[in-house]
Amino acid sequence: MEKTGIIWTEKTWNPVTGCVKVSKGCKFCYAETIANKYKGHKAFPVGFDLQYREHKLKDPLKWKEPSLVFVNSMSDMFWDKISDDYRNKIVDIIEQTPQHEYQVLTKRPANMLKYSKYRKLPFNFWAGVTIENVKSLERLEIIKKVKSEIRFISFEPLIEELPNMDLTGIHWVITGGESGTHLWDQIIRKERGMVIYEDKKWKPDPNKIHWIRKIRDNCREYGTKFFHKQWGGSYPEAAGRMLDGETYNEMPKYPGMKTEINNEYLKSLEKQKEITFEMFQ
Ligand code: SF4
Repeated sequence: MEKTGIIWTEKTWNPVTGCVKVSKGCKFCYAETIANKYKGHKAFPVGFDLQYREHKLKDPLKWKEPSLVFVNSMSDMFWDKISDDYRNKIVDIIEQTPQHEYQVLTKRPANMLKYSKYRKLPFNFWAGVTIENVKSLERLEIIKKVKSEIRFISFEPLIEELPNMDLTGIHWVITGGESGTHLWDQIIRKERGMVIYEDKKWKPDPNKIHWIRKIRDNCREYGTKFFHKQWGGSYPEAAGRMLDGETYNEMPKYPGMKTEINNEYLKSLEKQKEITFEMFQ
């Protein structure tokens, strides 16, 4: 198990690492930064190039507690360079561990769709796509076609205001602003961030709060669960994650889902003051 600071999951599992940039949202890819920082070390001998980590494949078999697992936080499982043979090995493990839920996020939904036609996705495989701006909205219609119990969208980093969307068939939405030390740069902050730095504090940018509000209301229209992860800043929760006085932690659930989010996990979801209990529905 790898520890994670990503608050919408419990564990990360990286049976493969490496990727190449595909769109604007990738510009400050944290996975690339980490992999290149440790290039040549034992953990990342080839930096951000493709690295199959066969020794990690069986990790989920050892986890006793049912868990929410983010697959490939250090890669994109549907990167063209990853073979279907290797994807099959990952999906074999997902099938063998029905007690866990696997959150698979891609910026290449066409490859995910193609794969899902070649191999039926297990019920505990959540099919997710990242959308960061108007241009990448084309991914929305593709993810809708992927047959999966849970389809979700991560709007992080959201770098542009989005129009009202048809979220039919989308079960879960995560939102978040850009984060990282590059946000200290005023130009980058203005261009890509959802925050301001004022009186030595990171705060949501009053001119951009409505971007997230709009998405929340859009989710309400379609019954889509909504999770606001962060406003961003020099670190993910630098400016908190409250929207209109509320913390949004909603999670999707399908009939028969084995993973219950436990109290310890809730506590770890930040020192939140308010929890939206819809997450248990
Ligand atoms: S798709 Fe994801 S992992 Fe790949 S470069 Fe972009 S942000 Fe990084």
